[in-house]
Amino acid sequence: MKIRTRYAPSPTGKMHVGNLRSALYEFLIAKHDGGDFMLRIEDTDQERFVEGATEIIYRTMEKTGLIHDEGPDKDGGYGPYIQSERMKTGIYLKYAKELIEKGEAYYCFCDKERLDSLRTEVVEGKEISIYDKHCLSLSKEEIEKNLAEGKPYVIRQNNPNEGSTTFHDELYGDITVDNEQLDDMILIKTDGYPTYNFANVVDDHTMNITHVVRGNEYLSSSPKYQRLYDAFGWQSPVYVHLPLITDENHKKLSKRSGHSSFEDLLEQGFVTEAIVNYIALLGWSPEDNNEIFSLDQLIKDFDYHRISKSPAVFDIVKLRWMNGEYIKAMDFDKYLEMAMPYIDDTVHSDVDKTKLASWVKTRIETFPDIKEHLDFVDLLPDYDIEMYTHKKMKTNAETSLEVLKDIVPVLEAHDDYSNDSLYALIMKYVEEKGYKNGYVLWPIRTAVSGKQMTPAGATELMELFGKDETIRRIKAGIAKLEG
Ligand code: GLU
Repeated sequence: MKIRTRYAPSPTGKMHVGNLRSALYEFLIAKHDGGDFMLRIEDTDQERFVEGATEIIYRTMEKTGLIHDEGPDKDGGYGPYIQSERMKTGIYLKYAKELIEKGEAYYCFCDKERLDSLRTEVVEGKEISIYDKHCLSLSKEEIEKNLAEGKPYVIRQNNPNEGSTTFHDELYGDITVDNEQLDDMILIKTDGYPTYNFANVVDDHTMNITHVVRGNEYLSSSPKYQRLYDAFGWQSPVYVHLPLITDENHKKLSKRSGHSSFEDLLEQGFVTEAIVNYIALLGWSPEDNNEIFSLDQLIKDFDYHRISKSPAVFDIVKLRWMNGEYIKAMDFDKYLEMAMPYIDDTVHSDVDKTKLASWVKTRIETFPDIKEHLDFVDLLPDYDIEMYTHKKMKTNAETSLEVLKDIVPVLEAHDDYSNDSLYALIMKYVEEKGYKNGYVLWPIRTAVSGKQMTPAGATELMELFGKDETIRRIKAGIAKLEG
């Protein structure tokens, strides 16, 4: 049987890291086996619908390379692929009525007041009312009459009070619950829309979905879905409920962390490929210890049996490291295109910016790091003279003052400010004086940059600045050292 998976997002806002992980795993399960990956838009909860969210979904899928074989924009014969459009075909009502026929569902005409007076229970932090099956006892005539009068209704699942239901999850194994614990959930709402609870079953079956990957917040409802499959006599798909993604404090990864969505991460200068790579490892691990995976490699290696049940901690430090590896390996032109906006933002003076970009490529983990590496270019920072002290180079404020004063006339007499020429010049000076290289290069680099760490050496910085600015900075250093 051909594997068919689906990513079924609700258009409710940004692409949460957890959703992107579900999409990725669904994609990988399908592609690993030459199957089909489908996109289905679950927009039946009109209250949660956010304008523009569907576009975010398309954009993210395209950017991350999770290309669907079927979806609203690519008909594969299983459409419509948007639930609100599926609803218009009457599919959900048709199947709900079939359940009513079988005694597995019933019309409920209870008004808000009555529902508000029912016993409530807290399920997953949310208070829900437990329906008391009041309308199950309505006679056929009463139901017909209510319907004829146009009385608002919902259709509920009819779960028995005895017996138990078992369903299977690939990670969690067989899960059995007493039917008594299953509330008579709503299948069709008063507005005619199906609930997620009903639509996911009807759609996954009618769209021939073989594997469902989703967050484990759906685990507790799955016995009810299983009862629907059983009632229809359908085979349920393979379920993989993914562990929660938490922040460093082991709390559910939320907006507050500042990096809970794909968009947040892009804004923070992370590279798409690194994000996808990192997210793949949030709960899944390969057989070897490899950590760097292209999407193609993931397709080859991904095995959903290796997903772990334990919560996955979103480790931004690890992602930063991984991102740095991607930047290092990146094609220079692509890198330049991505780095340049950050360089332009930091450096306004007339210097060779491509050179600056090449200097920092191996030093940054994310693009915004560029700022701290190049903040000395426009303006010499106000540094401490302690910086001239370097144990290994045997330098301190006094030796530096002496060297800098001595070398200014040498630099003034020289006109070729190319790196090679400057280097030869300083080496000649070093030799004549019988100094060690660092004894001279360290104070120059310090004076020219005002920084402990620089992305390039003394003569490269001098080349970047040119003669006037170099000498100006060295003289400023001398003034500083003279107090
Ligand atoms: N629309 C659901 C969501 O976005 C999909 C859950 C599922 O994959 O079945 O959470």
